[in-house]
Amino acid sequence: MIEVKVLVAAPLHEKAIQILKDAGLEVIYEEYPEEDRLVELVKDVEAIIVRSKPKVTRKVIESAPKLKVIARAGVGLDNIDVEAAKERGIEVVNAPAASSRSVAELAVALMFAVARKIAFADRKMREGVWAKKQAMGIELEGKTLGIIGFGRIGYQVAKIARALGMNLLLYDPYPNEERAKEVGGKFVDLETLLRESDIVTIHVPLLESTYHLINEERLKLMKKSAILINTSRGAVVDTNALVKALEEGWIAGAGLDVYEEEPLPKDHPLTKFDNVVLTPHIGASTVEAQERAGVEVAEKVVKILKG
Ligand code: NAD
Repeated sequence: MIEVKVLVAAPLHEKAIQILKDAGLEVIYEEYPEEDRLVELVKDVEAIIVRSKPKVTRKVIESAPKLKVIARAGVGLDNIDVEAAKERGIEVVNAPAASSRSVAELAVALMFAVARKIAFADRKMREGVWAKKQAMGIELEGKTLGIIGFGRIGYQVAKIARALGMNLLLYDPYPNEERAKEVGGKFVDLETLLRESDIVTIHVPLLESTYHLINEERLKLMKKSAILINTSRGAVVDTNALVKALEEGWIAGAGLDVYEEEPLPKDHPLTKFDNVVLTPHIGASTVEAQERAGVEVAEKVVKILKG
């Protein structure tokens, strides 16, 4: 009997590897191979599993005559040449919902971190400075949270925010009224959301229509006391406009996990503000999200290969 081979080209949760093995597949594991090496590795595999790395290019796809499925254990497909796969009838799968709760929890963690100046206070402690007076914060209870993009992650954020006693304004061109009702949220237009929210959190995909959705004009609509949170994609916010808004005090602070340029360059203007909390694109970086994503794509791969 000829073994069906699967190339796992990125760290994958052990439960996911077990699912592949239990299905009788031969697992070849190599972490983040370069393109030239990948081209060699895919020669006789029927499936490739990756994460945000490595890149599955047209050249890689064309070097894999038996390939039936490419899987990304995570959200998005930006490192896979989906067009090239489509031309050959190769299925491309991912796990779009696996990290929703993790990203939502990070967004809320950033809200608390900015509202209570946690990162600033921690930095001062390490300098031996007892910054009690400068670390006056605000509570989240009773505040209005504006959620831009009420999809999987936006909905999870809303559930947590509701439990915190926040009021919810929602903006989404495709409003899901049932879910809004469930969390006690109200759909409004973007301008109203920006004007009336104490905290604004962004959960839209990066599309042509959302590129620089938050620009100078829209930042100026926000309250001077407002906090902006972005855990979606960096380019949804015009970075230069945000820096200007922080410099000139149009808003009170920001919590960011994603940037127009990643990694964020050292000494970037955003690193100079005490009222900004920065994390290195870790929204999906939890044990639970990684396990969920791995198991989900492993099951999809088995289903496709076993018909
Ligand atoms: P989703 O598709 O479930 O929800 C997105 C929502 O945005 C949809 O309801 C859609 O109708 C809405 N939308 C589209 N265009 C809009 C616009 N112009 N204005 C307002 N809303 C608009 O997506 P999701 O799973 O909730 O993911 C949301 C974002 O989070 C994506 O950008 C994704 O890339 C990002 N993300 C980040 C991390 C991280 O590590 N920080 C991890 C996973 C996902």
